[in-house]
Amino acid sequence: MPRSHQQLDALVVGAGFAGMYMLYRLNRLGLATRVIEKASGVGGTWFWNRYPGARCDIESMQYSYSFSHQLEQEWEWSERYASQKEILEYANHVADRFDLRKDMQFDTEVTSAHYSHCDEDRGSWTVSMENKQGCTSTIRARFLVMATGCLSAPNTAAFSGIEDFAGPCYHTGSWPHQEIDFTGKRVAIIGTGSSGIQATTAIARQASQLFVFQRTANYIVPANNQPFRPGEQQQIKDAYGDLRSLARKARNGVAQEIVTDPASAFTPSQREQRYQQRWDDGGLTFIGVFSDLLLDAESNQTAADFIRERIHEVVHDPETAKMLCPDSTFGCKRLCVDSDYYDTFNRDSVTLVNIKEHGIEKICSRGPVVNGKVYDVDALVLATGFDAMTGTLKQIDIRGRDGLKLVDKWIDGPTTCLGLMVAGFPNLFTITGPGSPSVLSNMLGSIEFHVDWISGCIEHLEKREANRIEATESAESLWGKEVERVVDQTVYRTCESW
Ligand SMILES: Cc1cc2nc3c(=O)[nH]c(=O)nc-3n(C[C@H](O)[C@H](O)[C@H](O)COP(=O)(O)OP(=O)(O)OC[C@H]3O[C@@H](n4cnc5c(N)ncnc54)[C@H](O)[C@@H]3O)c2cc1C
Repeated sequence: MPRSHQQLDALVVGAGFAGMYMLYRLNRLGLATRVIEKASGVGGTWFWNRYPGARCDIESMQYSYSFSHQLEQEWEWSERYASQKEILEYANHVADRFDLRKDMQFDTEVTSAHYSHCDEDRGSWTVSMENKQGCTSTIRARFLVMATGCLSAPNTAAFSGIEDFAGPCYHTGSWPHQEIDFTGKRVAIIGTGSSGIQATTAIARQASQLFVFQRTANYIVPANNQPFRPGEQQQIKDAYGDLRSLARKARNGVAQEIVTDPASAFTPSQREQRYQQRWDDGGLTFIGVFSDLLLDAESNQTAADFIRERIHEVVHDPETAKMLCPDSTFGCKRLCVDSDYYDTFNRDSVTLVNIKEHGIEKICSRGPVVNGKVYDVDALVLATGFDAMTGTLKQIDIRGRDGLKLVDKWIDGPTTCLGLMVAGFPNLFTITGPGSPSVLSNMLGSIEFHVDWISGCIEHLEKREANRIEATESAESLWGKEVERVVDQTVYRTCESW
């Protein structure tokens, strides 16, 4: 196999929203940078997740880049929550508009990244990769930025016998590029997280029979999605700066009125009214309706009860409604946002199968088997999510100082400094890495924040002609107020202190 060696200032892995913006920033610093991407195009999440019903659950006017005023003014969204297709078009537009593709290499997977500090001149990280044709190559770079995504390694739960299934089997996170038509088909969908609920609603409109296998019921709030009315989008654009700064102040990065009163400050009927108002508005601001929903068990219970009542109101069959009611603490997991998910269970063709007590025993040639019963289907959809947060990083053989393997460092769970850097791995940055707010926030805001910090940090090093930066072990255990101190004082080692 031919091998090539290149020397760069920075190498970025991944061409999703994080990798694209990182490249834009590093280009502006004048650094020789390359983005390596395993897919054949940009977009990351929105390149891979092409399942029916896929769309964002944060309003597109906010789930979009804010770094370019011109970009946010010129791009037109067609509806409040854009579909996967439209978000992917947006990603492609950004790549073209800022001329990013010239520094991108597609269809290439990074397989290993090794740091060596005795080799300063030739670069600190040696990154190996393999393209679709099986050709391997190596790039050396001083800085390595992992923009590999928190939700980008599909979790294909190991169901015994799955290879015996006679029909097609799809995973929502690596959906085929051609449209799959389920019309007249009997379909089983496994998983009721964000992807599962979106796919369920869409597939139910086509399938002759749909079995939805649910282990854990989730809290789901309505999206209230709709096309923009004439002039509505322009009105938002006219005050875009205010919207963005409101979003930055909110805990989850979604613009909303910041409420400082706890639920207990209101009478039950006032509370009900406030819940109903946010419910009708739609979306993730529901979680911010009172200040203490995530701090006080009694307040939390009032939100959980409100949602459970709405489920019983919508779903006709009381047994199905009961199964759909979550019994967990409200808001501990990211809320799901739906369009007509609960109503879907009023269709005669849709059946909810509870797999909490009796899991899926196996999958046979005819379909899933639960508690001895075979569910006969023509197609199987795995909405089983991702090896979240650490999945993609652990799949790469990453070795830091003195050959320390990232998988060994994280054997008892990931430790990072603010989700940005890892002690023992100089000049390695992670965008929205483990320990950062990431999926509990509007991720485009979190991505921009991390990218701005990383590029600011590299710029600072360049100005001081410093070659290395590394998080300290103690910085990894900081939390709360300490975090602000870290950012203020930049408690990192640079080469000057080595
Ligand atoms: C279906 C779905 C809907 C979502 N909706 C929302 C939403 O509404 N709001 C929100 O805030 N967040 C949402 N998210 C989270 C979403 O992942 C982020 O918003 C955002 O798109 C992440 O961007 P990223 O660039 O960090 O990662 P990704 O988009 O995941 O991109 C990472 C890229 O790295 C590439 N890569 C990984 N490993 C390698 C390797 N070894 N070599 C080469 N390339 C590699 C991958 O192929 C991928 O293209 C959603 C996630 C999913 C799955």
